[in-house]
Amino acid sequence: MLPLVAIVGRPNVGKSTLFNRLVGQRIALVDDQPGVTRDRREGEARLADLTFRLLDTAGLEDAGIETLAGRMRAQTEAAIAEADAILFVVDGRAGLTPEDRHFANIVRKTGKPVILLANKAEGRRGLEGAYEAFGLGLGDPIPVSAEHGEGLGDLADALAALLPAAIEAEEDFAEDEEEAGDKPAKPIQVAIVGRPNAGKSTLVNALIGEDRLLTSPEAGTTRDSISIDWQWQGRDFRLVDTAGLRKRAKVQDKLEKLSVGDALRAIRFAEVVLVLMDATKPFEDQDLKIADLVIREGRAVVFGFNKWDLVEAKPGAIAKLREELDHWLPQARGAAVVGTSALHAEGLDRLMQAILGAYKVWNKRITTAKLNRWLEAMLEQHSPPAVAGRRIKIRYLTQAKARPPTFVLFGNQLHELPESYMRFLVNGLRDAFDLPGTPIRIERRTGDNPYDKRRG
Ligand code: GDP
Ligand code: GDP
Repeated sequence: MLPLVAIVGRPNVGKSTLFNRLVGQRIALVDDQPGVTRDRREGEARLADLTFRLLDTAGLEDAGIETLAGRMRAQTEAAIAEADAILFVVDGRAGLTPEDRHFANIVRKTGKPVILLANKAEGRRGLEGAYEAFGLGLGDPIPVSAEHGEGLGDLADALAALLPAAIEAEEDFAEDEEEAGDKPAKPIQVAIVGRPNAGKSTLVNALIGEDRLLTSPEAGTTRDSISIDWQWQGRDFRLVDTAGLRKRAKVQDKLEKLSVGDALRAIRFAEVVLVLMDATKPFEDQDLKIADLVIREGRAVVFGFNKWDLVEAKPGAIAKLREELDHWLPQARGAAVVGTSALHAEGLDRLMQAILGAYKVWNKRITTAKLNRWLEAMLEQHSPPAVAGRRIKIRYLTQAKARPPTFVLFGNQLHELPESYMRFLVNGLRDAFDLPGTPIRIERRTGDNPYDKRRG
């Protein structure tokens, strides 16, 4: 049985449009039962390498206004009760309405896994609404455009993480997506974060050039979605939402200097985050807080140590910083460490190379066959401990998604696995599959290998 996903949201946010895009002509059945299930449409959806059943609760706006609220509620609750996961859709342009909050409450109370979609966000419009949607308490919104088919890759990644059983059984990822596809790559979204005075604005200028910055049509159009595109060695990059940009765009902002809260928003819209520190006083409290945030948010991370021109004992300094980094931030073991001098435009090529490298690692996909060969060897080397006399059983490992690499471990009593054993697995994955620096996630599922089940 394929997993079931329900699309939920108030009228007019684009639920039907999304349903049609994902299901196309493959509508399998329209349930004819009277009552709450009458309006529902169901079909088999395909998205990237995922297949699942999709349930749409749209069409309710035709109902009389008196009965609308009640019917929608019943409809929504019925759909949610059955679903394995929920796509909660809001209109990224219209902003939130009380109805959105009402539905969000219903969804949140069920405790089912939810993916929040800010629709109508084509061409980056609607990002304002997406920021607002953070407030719903349903996690990070994914900006999408159902009508134009944008953002669906991110949706696929999010779904794959929640529903590993939806992944095609015969999946065989290319080791490196960059090389696998020959379509032009999208710009890599980069954010630069760090303490005030680390040199973020100076660095932005050095990377992009003053002229470009002041004439960019995107700069300053809205307060929150400033972005600048530029190229480096033929690759497109997009710098998103940095304090430096905001300052250069002469936007009034009482928090001109980047605070941790500000950093969070920039981080959420970036793929790679450059944590810039002042090389003359690295690893201060706030640096570590920001870096920890980047890793917890699952972004690719690069560490820049700026004002390198002021560092006196340069030989050996990088190695020392790397050691310190592993000590302070073991979750990012192996992340790139680059010395830069924004003021003198030095170290910038190495920095860009590191950003590109971090992006590639973050996108890596490892085939299930390789993972399980590796897992077998790991288990032989160091089998999981017994808890209360019963041995914890690990059966199977698969990569549910990339960006960041996220794995699902199947077995019994996995939640009893001590943290030290989880670290053993994470570190092992890092070394065996060459995943330096990137956040690595392992989710634990009790039960059998889903692929065996599907094959009967
Ligand atoms: P539902 O009531 O939630 O099922 O919403 P519909 O799918 O019927 O869409 C409502 C309106 O929003 C329609 O006019 C759609 O054409 C429009 N719409 C849906 N998705 C998008 C989108 O991604 N961008 C834009 N601009 N409009 C959209
Ligand atoms: P932000 O607050 O992180 O945006 O930092 P700024 O870019 O405004 O830089 C803060 C101060 O550090 C300014 O006086 C810069 O001229 C100086 N600065 C920036 N980068 C460098 C560098 O590489 N070397 C030196 N010596 N000073 C720098």
